[in-house]
Amino acid sequence: QQATPSDDTIFSKILRKEIPCKFIYEDEQCVAFHDVNPQAPIHFLVIPRKPIRMLSEVDETDKLIKNWCNLVLNCKLPSFQLLGHLMLVANIVAKDLRLEKGYRLVVNNGVHGAQSVYHLHIHILGGRQMNWPPG
Ligand code: 5GP
Repeated sequence: QQATPSDDTIFSKILRKEIPCKFIYEDEQCVAFHDVNPQAPIHFLVIPRKPIRMLSEVDETDKLIKNWCNLVLNCKLPSFQLLGHLMLVANIVAKDLRLEKGYRLVVNNGVHGAQSVYHLHIHILGGRQMNWPPG
């Protein structure tokens, strides 16, 4: 699949508020919301506002959209900081949702990763015992 900054996804529509979605966290860099098809008692997603398609394209995406993103959106963090920020936000929201017994972070990347929405997102699953290794 070709990576283009103009790729539109359901998450872009959510970010533009074209699809109703209640954010459980938001800041200048990212938003979090509950997954519409939860795989655990608590299942939320953290997504960057920046339209990064997938983790493995982070560097390439950065080059493609850097200037556009800085001009149009208020998202000026370099990728390594943005990725760290997403994980820290996952932890903040998990604490708010009282997942003190633990939780799991998942990033599905590409076809073999079973990624279905090509806008980078972290799944956070909790509220039940997870198993390892996953299927
Ligand atoms: P992926 O398979 O790409 O890793 O995960 C995409 C996730 O987005 C899935 O868990 C799916 O349930 C969730 N999802 C897809 N469309 C929507 C939507 O419109 N609203 C919400 N809240 N979640 C969605």
